[in-house]
Amino acid sequence: MKLFLASLFLALSFQGSVYAQAAPIDIVFDIDWTTFYSIDTTSPNQIDNQNIAIEGKTYRPTEHLGEVLQALSLHPEVRISFFSGGEKSRNEALLKKLILPNGRRAFDIAYRVLSKENLQQVSEDSNLKFSQRYKKSFEGLLPGATPQRTILIDDQVEFSKAPWKAVPSLGVFNYQKVFDNRQSAQQFYPSTEQAWLNEKDKALMWKSLLEEAIVLSRKSDKPFSQITSDLWSAKSQNSLCKNVFIL
Ligand SMILES: [Mg+2]
Repeated sequence: MKLFLASLFLALSFQGSVYAQAAPIDIVFDIDWTTFYSIDTTSPNQIDNQNIAIEGKTYRPTEHLGEVLQALSLHPEVRISFFSGGEKSRNEALLKKLILPNGRRAFDIAYRVLSKENLQQVSEDSNLKFSQRYKKSFEGLLPGATPQRTILIDDQVEFSKAPWKAVPSLGVFNYQKVFDNRQSAQQFYPSTEQAWLNEKDKALMWKSLLEEAIVLSRKSDKPFSQITSDLWSAKSQNSLCKNVFIL
């Protein structure tokens, strides 16, 4: 029996070390308009008990964000990071206020929190958009990360610098607590209740697509970042959101 337990322990330790040595998968989330909305506190439809006040501004985490981060963080090969062109103090304070269902803070499960000073300036032409002058590259910022096994989820995919890949965060609208068709003609507000629902539940879509990509990458020669990009192109259209969200 003792011998059996000892061999079992050895087998489990070996399995653990294999996981520890396996190349990581890095999932990097943008903050503004991806994981958090900016809130106008004078708009009654943006007042919510999940709102977070930081440095004089108010934010609202994307619906389901805590549960989705927790689920992704449980995959042994996955490292979750954040990269926002915002101030480091603001980014870190926001992530310290977001509590996951298991009681940990988003900040605690983050491998790295990258901020404004980590952006790479690629042009000094002030006529260009901010995302054309500054890029999110992970070179030298995420030890052990490779472009093949790293994906950025960002509402502005043009922030990513090749060969690093990004996929859209699938969000395009301002936060609305409930769908208000009186705002449907305004820019950055959904025109239908279905569009509002797709925006609200976008984090569930990330979870579904990322978990499929993680599983596929374990048995495929195709790189994780390519698998993720391909899945996003094939499945992130509204028709699929409809199938996922209306159960
Ligand atoms: Mg953004």
